[in-house]
Amino acid sequence: MKPVVAIIGAGVAGAIVAEALARRGDVEVICLERAARGAHAEAGTGLNVGPNAMKALASHFPQIAARIRAASLPWRRWTTGLTDGTILWDLDLATVADNPGVRIRWSELYRLVREPLDGMVEFGASLEHASFDASGATLRWRTADGAVRVRDGVDLVLGCDGRFGWLREAAFGPSPPSHLGIVIYRVLFDAAPSVPVDEYGQWFAGPNRLLAFRLPDGAIYCAGSFPIPPGDPIPETMKDVATLRALYTLPTGLSPTCAALVDGIVGHLDQIHWARVQDGPIRYAHRSGRLLLLGDAAHPMAPTLGQGATQAIEDACVAAHEIAAALDARTPLNAVPASVAARRTERVRFVSRLSRDASDTMLDGADPVAGVAWKREPGFMRALERLYRATPEPATSPARALS
Ligand SMILES: Cc1cc2nc3c(=O)[nH]c(=O)nc-3n(C[C@H](O)[C@H](O)[C@H](O)COP(=O)(O)OP(=O)(O)OC[C@H]3O[C@@H](n4cnc5c(N)ncnc54)[C@H](O)[C@@H]3O)c2cc1C
Repeated sequence: MKPVVAIIGAGVAGAIVAEALARRGDVEVICLERAARGAHAEAGTGLNVGPNAMKALASHFPQIAARIRAASLPWRRWTTGLTDGTILWDLDLATVADNPGVRIRWSELYRLVREPLDGMVEFGASLEHASFDASGATLRWRTADGAVRVRDGVDLVLGCDGRFGWLREAAFGPSPPSHLGIVIYRVLFDAAPSVPVDEYGQWFAGPNRLLAFRLPDGAIYCAGSFPIPPGDPIPETMKDVATLRALYTLPTGLSPTCAALVDGIVGHLDQIHWARVQDGPIRYAHRSGRLLLLGDAAHPMAPTLGQGATQAIEDACVAAHEIAAALDARTPLNAVPASVAARRTERVRFVSRLSRDASDTMLDGADPVAGVAWKREPGFMRALERLYRATPEPATSPARALS
């Protein structure tokens, strides 16, 4: 009998592992996705996927890397300044990375990773119960038409159900998020080509930050942020045109670029997605050996360095590789969670810590000039190099298992 792998959530991590396993005839794959076919959550936002994810993808799954590159714009520069137009830093990513990252619409990334799974993913299927013991896992889910289905004897469950999925807490117990004390909100809007926003830029007025880059169809993705006391709810009074304008306007003025961004924000207030920056502990391998969490479910992290989807992609590369190695060797899959955790935990701890440290300029009372100055020092530059260059490699099992 073939071993059975169940993937819960065909988001970034789940869809990549599913595609890797789809090409094998020696494993049965069940893939459940709560969203309806063709529905892409958060379709209105954009992502910058880090150079490290593109490097890991190119070495594990060159066809997926090529597909994403063809549908995206390169991310090669990172500029930081003040909202009055003062430039503080202009970083050529080639000095710290082996290749560019990409800029892409989130809905487009979902489409690209899900499209090859046609017929393999059960869309509209929501996992409602799971139990794990040494003999295997039992899953219960509700199908798109409301029926309840149960499957037992599952050898390995991949919990790829994202930041708000329930598997993490059900299997590992509660782990309350740790709030950094920063509000982040995102918006996507059309802007004339004359608006001088292209690659990844950040502009500060004290700790209040605007971040923006252009996407392949010409739209601008913009994320604004400002501090609040850690754990407090987002005050409704902040979600106001005059307040938001004032947040980003320095006594020395507002540059034309930042004025265009603020216009974009206040012109789309009704579409804004508001969130509080938070992270949480890393959880990969369940003690039963039957559950492995991947992506946001394994490691909720601060979005400051754009490493959420990026680390989900690194996770997927490693997990697919370890599963392929176990299948090739005909060894039980219950050793996979521990082997993935062993390869990933230290790296993800480093990335999560760096994302938190890099958020210093967005905290209450922060001085962006001092905060950018320490990032230009060799210590932070070495950390960026480690982030972008020290990616997982498919070193331990034959390449044929993955190609
Ligand atoms: C607005 C915004 C901007 C972001 N910008 C960036 C960025 O620039 N760069 C970056 O790297 N990251 C960014 N991130 C983070 C990034 O989107 C996430 O880290 C990434 O999507 C995580 O991938 P994942 O595979 O773990 O989970 P997801 O992509 O969230 O996928 C989880 C999937 O599980 C499904 N699911 C959930 N529960 C169930 C269930 N019970 N049954 C079946 N299916 C279920 C969901 O429908 C979903 O499809 C951003 C996030 C947001 C919200």
